[in-house]
Amino acid sequence: MRAVQDAATAGLSFGAPTEAEVKLAELLIERLPSLEQVRLVSSGTEATMTAIRLARGATGRNKIIKFEGCYHGHSDSLLVKAGSGLLTLGNPSSAGVPPEFVAHTITLDFNNLPAVQSAFAEHGQDIACVIVEPVAGNMNLIKPAQGFLEGLRELCTGHGSVLIFDEVMTGFRVGPQGVQGLTGVRPDLTTLAKVIGGGMPVGAFGGRADLMRHIAPLGGVYQAGTLSGNPVAVAAGLATLRLIGQPGFYEDLSARTERLALGLAERARAAGVPFSADSVGGMFGMYFRAEVPASFAEASSCDGEAFKRFFHAMLARGVHFAPSAFEAGFVSATHDDAVLQATLDKAEEAFREIRQAA
Ligand SMILES: *Cc1c(COP(=O)(O)O)cnc(C)c1O
Repeated sequence: MRAVQDAATAGLSFGAPTEAEVKLAELLIERLPSLEQVRLVSSGTEATMTAIRLARGATGRNKIIKFEGCYHGHSDSLLVKAGSGLLTLGNPSSAGVPPEFVAHTITLDFNNLPAVQSAFAEHGQDIACVIVEPVAGNMNLIKPAQGFLEGLRELCTGHGSVLIFDEVMTGFRVGPQGVQGLTGVRPDLTTLAKVIGGGMPVGAFGGRADLMRHIAPLGGVYQAGTLSGNPVAVAAGLATLRLIGQPGFYEDLSARTERLALGLAERARAAGVPFSADSVGGMFGMYFRAEVPASFAEASSCDGEAFKRFFHAMLARGVHFAPSAFEAGFVSATHDDAVLQATLDKAEEAFREIRQAA
C-alpha cells in the first residue's frame, strides 16, 4: 500500500517507460530462469494473446495447440472448448467468436501426450506453438502427469514449435520460479500476470531473446499498450515480489496450503462425504469425488451439487471459497494458523450438514 501511494504521488501515467517498469522487468528475469527478455502489458489476456501472435510471427505458422479446460484469457482464438475426440478443430465456446477465428486452434486433452504426438504427426509443419497451464488451475487444480510437460518440450523442440507456459496463475504462486522451477522444464515463452501486479493490473510475456526480437520495433510483430508498465501498478508488483522473495516464504506457504487441503479431506472422510484434495505451493484443489482427478473429464465428473451445497454452507459460516468447482483455491500470506484452524472447524460442520441433506 505504501509503495502504491508513493508511486501515485509521483504521477499516475507518463506515456513513456519508467524506471520502476525496468526494475520489475529485471526482477522477473532474475527470478525466472527461462526469461531472457520480457515486455510488460496490463493483463494476462494481453500477455497470452501477444505470446501467441509472437509465436505465429516468429515461426510463420498458423496453428496453435491448447488443452481442454485450460484458460488463457478472453482473446478470440483462445476461447475454444474441445469435444472429446482425439483432435477437435475449432469450435468457438463463446458467443461472438466467428468459427473462422478459431479454425487454427487445435484443442486436446490435458495430460494426454499421445494425442499431442498425433497432432504433431499430422500438422507438425503448421504448428506455431503449444500453450499450456503447466499446472492447470482453471478446471480445478490438475497437476501435469509424469512426463507430460517434458513430452511437450520434446515435441516442440523437434518440430520447431514454440512452447508457451501460461504461468499467469502459477507464477510466483507454486514456488519462487513457477512451474518451470519445480519441474526443470524450460518453456520458450512464459506469460505472467496476477501475482506480479500485487493486486494491480500488470501482465508480462517473455522468454528467449531470439524470439523476443520479433516484437516491434525490432521486429514485425506488433504490440503496444498505453498503460503497459504503468508506474503505480508496477510499484505494487515490485513490492509484492520483494516481500515474497524472502527466504522460507514458499516453504511456509506450501506447508500451510497442504495442511488446509489434507485437513479438508480428513474432515470430509469423517463425515462420509466422497472428497479428495491436492495442493502445490499456495494452490489447492478440492474435489467432490474419491480420487484426485488427472484430466478435464475427471474434473468434470466431480459432484457439482455437493460442491454447491458445501460452498454455501461455508459462505453461511463466513468462509468464501472460489465460487466454482472448476477453480483452484489459493492460500495467502495472511492466512495464518488461526485462520486455517477456523476454516477447518467450519468445514467439519459444513461437511456434516451437506451429508445430512444428501
Ligand atoms: C487469469 C488467467 C488469465 C487471464 O488473465 P487476466 O489478467 O484475467 O486477463 C490467463 N491465463 C491464466 C492461466 C489465468 O489464470
